[in-house]
Amino acid sequence: MERADVERWKSKYLESLENLERLESRWENRLDLVRRGLVRSSLAAEGNDVAVDACLVELRDILRRDDSDADLAKLIPRLERTVLDSEQRRELRARQVADAFAELCRLLQTLELPREQRKALKGFAKRAQAAAGQPGELPALLGEFSRLQQQALSQLHPEQPARPGFLQRLLGSRGETAEDGPAPLPAQPVESIPPPAREEAAELSEPASSALDHPPSPAPEASPAPADPAYALPPAPEPGYSAIAPHLEATLLRLLDDLALPDSHKPQAEHLRQRIQGSLNWYELVPVLDDLSVLVLALNHSGQSEFQLYLRRLNERLAAFQSGLQDVHEQRQDGQTQERAFGEVLRGQVNDLQSEVQDATNLDSLKLSLDSRLEGLLASLAEQQTQRETREQEASDQLSALTERVAGMEREAKQYRGHLEEQRLKALCDPLTGLPNRAAWSERLDLEVARWQRHGGDLLMAVLDVDLFKRINDGYGHLAGDKVLKIIANELQRRLRKTDFIARFGGEEFVVLLGATPLAGGVTLIEQLRAAVAACPFHFKGERVVVTLSAGLAAFAPGEDADTVFERADQALYRAKRAGRDRLDVA
Ligand code: GH3
Ligand code: MG
Ligand code: MG
Repeated sequence: MERADVERWKSKYLESLENLERLESRWENRLDLVRRGLVRSSLAAEGNDVAVDACLVELRDILRRDDSDADLAKLIPRLERTVLDSEQRRELRARQVADAFAELCRLLQTLELPREQRKALKGFAKRAQAAAGQPGELPALLGEFSRLQQQALSQLHPEQPARPGFLQRLLGSRGETAEDGPAPLPAQPVESIPPPAREEAAELSEPASSALDHPPSPAPEASPAPADPAYALPPAPEPGYSAIAPHLEATLLRLLDDLALPDSHKPQAEHLRQRIQGSLNWYELVPVLDDLSVLVLALNHSGQSEFQLYLRRLNERLAAFQSGLQDVHEQRQDGQTQERAFGEVLRGQVNDLQSEVQDATNLDSLKLSLDSRLEGLLASLAEQQTQRETREQEASDQLSALTERVAGMEREAKQYRGHLEEQRLKALCDPLTGLPNRAAWSERLDLEVARWQRHGGDLLMAVLDVDLFKRINDGYGHLAGDKVLKIIANELQRRLRKTDFIARFGGEEFVVLLGATPLAGGVTLIEQLRAAVAACPFHFKGERVVVTLSAGLAAFAPGEDADTVFERADQALYRAKRAGRDRLDVA
């Protein structure tokens, strides 16, 4: 080879070597950049999915080593699969979140809400469907739902102070504190009414006796009473849902008890009872109410179909009865026709006999034909006799069947009347106190006023209202409030006479009708009721709770109607309240 050639090849080789080195260094730089970029993005991508996170840790490990190629080649397809799986899981979660929102909205929408709230809920449901896929939207959606839920609940329980809902407390909400402690109890629990001089510790189950005949027996001194458990108020419930839970639970259970359900629905009712007695919360409340409404509808339906069944049976019996009567009638007509026909036959035979006797020329032949004729006559008579007997037997059988049918119908009607009466009585009774309710009051009032208009005499009406009852509810809970109402109702009723009438007019208000009672006697009686209630030794966690009531009393004046008298008694009650409560005012 020429020397010049050698030199050329050498410089070419050196040049390409230089090029290669430049390329290699550039490649190294790029690789380093890619590595750092990968490490950073893997760090940024972490925290979304456990499986992906594990792969990323591995990736960073491999990248930090030099001999990474083989491991990287193995890891990348695995990473791809894991990311794909993670994406699918994310979509599934998003769908579940959207479904959960849809369900929550549906539950709220089953409540009776004003139009604009319904609209807002509908709008929210749509937005939730669209936005639930983005996890970042979740807190905002939850916050919005919580507000909607709060609005719906305060709509349902307007008397409840608007407490923040669970979600709102969880997420916090602009300008609202998450404070949710119980309202501090008044130091002197109820208005500072001096405790009564004596406390009556009598059992509530004591039979009712006339207060006028037997004034309540004096009780021992008012020592710091060894608390009578009968008057113990249940401990105050926690705030939030639990503030009304026992009240709600008791009301729902009472409602359930009051449903006269057909046997077919009893297991369902039992299941519902267990759910109510378990720990309910806002979220379970709505489905429980749903199921309860299903039972009520079922009851309504079963009542209707029972009645329809009864009517159908009655109709069938009446139809059978009618056709039975028709049969008897037809048989009677048959019988008459047959008897007429028989008379014809008889007359014909006798006529024949007569003419034969007249035409007879010889005694023997006459005797013979007479014999045969008479035999025929006797046979006809006998046949007629059996036919009649059969007919009579048939008619008598049919009559007794008809009688039995009528008796059956009567038995059924009586049973049904009893059922209706039972329902009527239930509808007239207040389930909490067991006293007659407002409907019963109206019925009885009409009766007594009509009687008073016919016979004259004294008729008094009193309106009684528990003082500051809201404070009892607020301070000790609704369950305690309910117990107070029950005990007061009992105290009042057992002190009235048989001829008096008391009803729960509503809430913590009672009405009393005193027949044939002059005003002075009425004042004494109502004063006794008032004093008896004030003396009830209610206590809460060992602390005495004084409960009092105020009353207004009015006498019916000639020509006055019940509404006017009630108005006057109510105004008197109002004056008693204004004058400081725990007193009676006479109209
Ligand atoms: P006042 O002395 O002026 O009558 O004050 P009050 O607090 O008794 O009167 P208000 O009418 O403001 O409150 C009556 C409360 O009675 C409000 C209501 O929540 C409560 N209440 C009504 N019915 C029931 C019930 O069946 N059970 C319970 N626990 N509370 C009831
Ligand atoms: Mg009151
Ligand atoms: Mg009231």
